[in-house]
Amino acid sequence: MSTVAPGSGCDVVIVGGGLVGLSFARALANTPLRLCLVESNPAPAPSAPDHDDRNTALSPSSRQIFSALGCWQEIAAGAAPITEIHVSDQGGFGRACMRADDEGMDALGHVVPNCLLGEVLAEAVSGQRNLETRQPADVAAIQDAGDHISLSVREADTTRLVHARLVVVADGSRSSLRERLGIAVTERDYGQTGIIANVTPERSPQGRAFERFTARGPLAMLPLPGGDCSLVWTVRSSESERLMGLSDQAFLDELQQAFGFRLGRLLRAGRRSAWPLRLLRSRERRKGRALLIGNAARTLHPVAGQGFNLALRDVAELAERLHDAAVIGDDPAAEHVMARFLAARKADERRTINFTDGLVRLFSNRLPGMVFGRNLGLMAVELFPAGRRWFMRQAMGRGARPSRLARGLPLADPRDGRTHE
Ligand SMILES: Cc1cc2nc3c(=O)[nH]c(=O)nc-3n(C[C@H](O)[C@H](O)[C@H](O)COP(=O)(O)OP(=O)(O)OC[C@H]3O[C@@H](n4cnc5c(N)ncnc54)[C@H](O)[C@@H]3O)c2cc1C
Repeated sequence: MSTVAPGSGCDVVIVGGGLVGLSFARALANTPLRLCLVESNPAPAPSAPDHDDRNTALSPSSRQIFSALGCWQEIAAGAAPITEIHVSDQGGFGRACMRADDEGMDALGHVVPNCLLGEVLAEAVSGQRNLETRQPADVAAIQDAGDHISLSVREADTTRLVHARLVVVADGSRSSLRERLGIAVTERDYGQTGIIANVTPERSPQGRAFERFTARGPLAMLPLPGGDCSLVWTVRSSESERLMGLSDQAFLDELQQAFGFRLGRLLRAGRRSAWPLRLLRSRERRKGRALLIGNAARTLHPVAGQGFNLALRDVAELAERLHDAAVIGDDPAAEHVMARFLAARKADERRTINFTDGLVRLFSNRLPGMVFGRNLGLMAVELFPAGRRWFMRQAMGRGARPSRLARGLPLADPRDGRTHE
């Protein structure tokens, strides 16, 4: 029998406790805002590999943000630094190599298993004083009343009314809340699927990441701690069914043929999973007191490893805006707060989407003229420092005006007495 519990109030409800929702909750730890996080999946058992066996390449800006959030040490302990990126075209003459040394950096990025990232973030928010977590729970209804917004949150047999001033929607690509809010999406189906697996090569990659454009589609091999590689092989969806159906050895043979022998023989492939790839964008980021972030706002092709990094820069900017509004007693969903957030993030979003989409189109194309042009482009990136810098800035998601967290700074200066934890 279903019961109705007494209602409760808070400032911000976060719907979705994936990597983005959890990061956002953590980013608001040091603010006076009262938060409620609603996540539909039951909490994974500690240290059990969760449903997501992917890895994420974190950019330097994500490292800064996680440092500012006090999570970087735990993440770094299970991450592999990327010290070189090799880009090549199967059967082509062009290649480019970018090195952290050349940029005066210790790493161009870090690869971290999603389950570790999720565990570190879940642990970081577990004792957070301004956060109440509802899990497993979901939103049965949402109603914008103008001066506040109400959600019916269903938990087991109980439905509770939660009133808030802002709802941050972080429930992923297939966001049901986005649909309830009547926000439409534009979608480009690339007709491609990403095949993911952890692969053990004969020789450890030692910090080298490989991006190779093969006859079947772009293939990334990223270094993992312990000498394995994280494979993301983008192929046509029809081809993916065949590759997914192969025995481990037959799959390794095809992978070896496409990747070559840069790391010696490929010895083992772990569990494969297939992810259909699309560019999805919500037509509106905000409706009344609801704001979309993460995959709910847009889902990118993973070829350039930008989706989470871009979302985390949004998280950092939004946390800064909400913190500043809270300190002076402003409504978190006030028109000027939302408008400034969206304006501050516009250029970075456009650049990142265009870079990712451009790479997919350029490197999925096998027309001879395009292949030749692409190889010339790779040579230019290799030979001309300006070309290389441009490519690296895009790949690392740089160029945007960084928020305080993205500069590694706390939201509030502890000396001004405005921290709240
Ligand atoms: C193959 C692949 C490789 C990638 N590699 C990279 C990379 O290297 N670097 C990078 O930056 N990005 C990468 N990405 C992108 C990155 O994975 C996503 O951007 C990121 O996972 C999005 O997180 P999210 O929290 O927005 O969404 P999700 O991870 O989908 O989380 C949504 C959460 O909401 C919950 N939820 C859903 N519905 C409800 C509801 N009604 N009520 C409550 N909770 C709900 C779900 O249970 C889930 O926990 C990759 C993506 C793919 C597919």
